[in-house]
Amino acid sequence: GVFRSHAEDIPLADRPIFEMIWGRRHRWENRTAYVCGVTEKSFTYNETYRNVLRFSDALDKRGYKHGDVVAACLPNCVEMPVTVHGCAARGITTTTLNPLYTEDDIVRQLEISDAQAVVAHPLLLPTVRAAAARVPTVREVIVSGQDSAPEGVSSFEELLRQGREQTPTVDIDMKKDPVLLLFSSGTTGLPKGVIQTNYCLGSNLLQATSEDFAWEVPGEERFLGVLPTFHTFGMFLYVFKSLITGASTTLLPRFEPEMFVNALTKYRPTALHLVPPLVTFLANSPTVTAETLSSLKVIFCGAAPLGPALIQRVLQKIDTATFIEGYGMTESSPVVSFSSISKGSRYGSCGVLLPNTELKVIAVDDGRVLDLGESGEICVRGPQVMPGYYKNPEATAATIDQEGWLHTGDVGYCDKDGFLFIVDRVKELIKYKGFQVAPAMLEDMLRKHAGVADAAVIGVPDEEAGELPRAYVVTSDPAITEQELADFVNAKVNTYYQLRGGVHIIDAIPKNASGKTMRRDLRERAIRELEEA
Ligand code: AMP
Repeated sequence: GVFRSHAEDIPLADRPIFEMIWGRRHRWENRTAYVCGVTEKSFTYNETYRNVLRFSDALDKRGYKHGDVVAACLPNCVEMPVTVHGCAARGITTTTLNPLYTEDDIVRQLEISDAQAVVAHPLLLPTVRAAAARVPTVREVIVSGQDSAPEGVSSFEELLRQGREQTPTVDIDMKKDPVLLLFSSGTTGLPKGVIQTNYCLGSNLLQATSEDFAWEVPGEERFLGVLPTFHTFGMFLYVFKSLITGASTTLLPRFEPEMFVNALTKYRPTALHLVPPLVTFLANSPTVTAETLSSLKVIFCGAAPLGPALIQRVLQKIDTATFIEGYGMTESSPVVSFSSISKGSRYGSCGVLLPNTELKVIAVDDGRVLDLGESGEICVRGPQVMPGYYKNPEATAATIDQEGWLHTGDVGYCDKDGFLFIVDRVKELIKYKGFQVAPAMLEDMLRKHAGVADAAVIGVPDEEAGELPRAYVVTSDPAITEQELADFVNAKVNTYYQLRGGVHIIDAIPKNASGKTMRRDLRERAIRELEEA
């Protein structure tokens, strides 16, 4: 009942991520590491490394030390890798904030992560400052990309000027020291800090670049970085994997169709990493032609389910690229599987397990281990699995069992050739355009409305976004309208948490004997409603 990768085990990370990445920089020192897709300013590997050292030294001078946490509220920009690696060099952890977060979202994450500083993009500064002022642990806000900073704020550029180019010596505990604290709601509840240690992240980099998965030619690739680096997927690709493979990455601050198509034409990427809504865009947009895509060798998609029909539509435009699919999660730092070179792609599947990775499928009702081809909850074990959620032993114990299996909350199966298929989800999580939406957050908010007696939020299928959050609400006041409740929530939450799937007032939320919401019943109800509409 336990499946292992077809690939042989490899040696795992034995040195801190900072050494792993920057120990190799001599191989491509004058090659471009990053290009800002907005200003077109580029930085070589050498220049990036020097900035990393300077930022790291400036942090040290300002009294930040091993074990501290720095938050980054940045769109994709060159300051992100400099912040993450500058921190990692000192044993300081970076926690990333979604740039679309509201002030309350930011406060919550800064509090949970015990952050001492926040690096923020100028456009996000007002929200970040207001949030930082409410969190006593935060002692500094650092604004990126500006020579000077407003009163009470530090300037990232100034820190780079102050810092010396000195290689820090810090005694890193590979299995304990987190490089990243990325937020995920996991299988249930509110977003929690996932600890991605030097060991987890470093090992996952080695696994994802091991022989049968090495789609990149070292020192030759060009990435177009459109996936957000605050999320584990974009972070892994553009802050770590790109650097370890000597790729040049053009960073786009957001997905904006015209900017994206122009960047495809101008920077001629060899590899694109996407989530399903972006694959839909490639397939459907008349502005994306065979010529636009002609530089691509590899198109990679992950983070949410993708139908084979869509892949075929993209490949009708460019049949010379290989389409690769993968599966992972923040809790597995993040990669579990993707298409391998020897096994190839099987559309609709998430590829095959990385080396040193084990998987078992268990029955959703009683946890019995299932056989090849049978569908159940996917459990994963390997060096990339997080040690746990930050300061949350209960949530950790509910997610990783005593034998080290990470219970993913995803439902799927493995076929006889080792291909993994994800078919459903038993966890609460909703994915809107690849972004995590934690229903618990929306349910808490709805329950704060005086006229709400009970609430449950589920995802309803949507062709463009994957899923849309929909609320089912029991009211204690017959005068309350669905629109009023939608407005109540939507005014307070960030854009991807908006109840785009609507609010429906019903008589009772279906619960099982132990009082747990029966989300599957609600999902089935929603599908019926969509069919009838
Ligand atoms: P995150 O931690 O935000 O990366 O979310 C992880 C979750 O995204 C997984 O547990 C799955 O539910 C979903 N996911 C990731 N990759 C895929 C995929 N290839 N197919 C279906 N769902 C996926």
